[in-house]
Amino acid sequence: MGDPGKVALVTGGSRGIGRAVVERLIEDGHDVAYCSRSLPGDAGALERLAADHSTRVLGTALDVTDEKAVRTFVEDTEERLGPVGVVVTSAGVVRDGPLATMTTEAWHEVVDTNLTGTFHVCRAAVFPLMRHRRGSIVTISSVAGLRGSASQTNYSASKAGITGFTKSLANEVARFGIRANVVAPGLIATDMTDGLSDKARAQLLAKIPLGRAGTVREVADTVAFLASDRAGYITGQVIGIDGGVSN
Ligand code: NDP
Repeated sequence: MGDPGKVALVTGGSRGIGRAVVERLIEDGHDVAYCSRSLPGDAGALERLAADHSTRVLGTALDVTDEKAVRTFVEDTEERLGPVGVVVTSAGVVRDGPLATMTTEAWHEVVDTNLTGTFHVCRAAVFPLMRHRRGSIVTISSVAGLRGSASQTNYSASKAGITGFTKSLANEVARFGIRANVVAPGLIATDMTDGLSDKARAQLLAKIPLGRAGTVREVADTVAFLASDRAGYITGQVIGIDGGVSN
């Protein structure tokens, strides 16, 4: 059997924060299986990065709301790369708008992807982790899950749910040597925040003590730390990466 610390599984790995996490974990020597609904056009760049670090990377197109596809993804990863030791759930979407006019579909799309998708992935992966008696799970929440965020009731609810889910999971699996932590980014420059109007961006920036948006690499560095044995005594925590917004 391979080293269960070496294989990492990342959702939402095609772009943004998830992509940076895939790269960072490869650089740390992990074999990485990632998924997203569509695979990146430059998947070859990840393969070259993995080859440079003598690791392997596998991309799979799937929707995290599809529980059967998620189970198959976890099983295939173990079969092809070996026992999974690190799980990072970054797949997420926004569909902002005031509650008064929010459609049921917009509610479900966000909650089903962000929260139920996290549940699907963690549930499929937790039994293998328990069997190997080690592992690190890192879920991606948001400052919007810690504080109110107008026009984001669906998104905030999903992200607050991820925090409660992960803290409960941390207590449940600690005796198996598994840690579970939450990363809660603030404003990070990705496709998700590209669509913000100049006015909305300026308003958000004005509230950030460090006065700038964060980078995907800054989030990935923290995720990689939590995934590693250097964070061996940290579990059930929510780590804000937000330039001080949630302080
Ligand atoms: P991006 O929009 O840049 O990337 C989202 C990723 O998730 C893509 O890989 C996307 O690929 C994938 N994805 C979306 N829906 C699904 C699905 N149903 N099944 C599988 N994969 C899916 O977002 P970010 O990188 O900015 O965000 C990553 C995470 O960080 C999200 O959970 C987000 O909520 C959170 N976050 C982001 C912040 C920011 O400022 N950017 C702030 C706080 C939290 P595809 O579309 O091909 O499926």
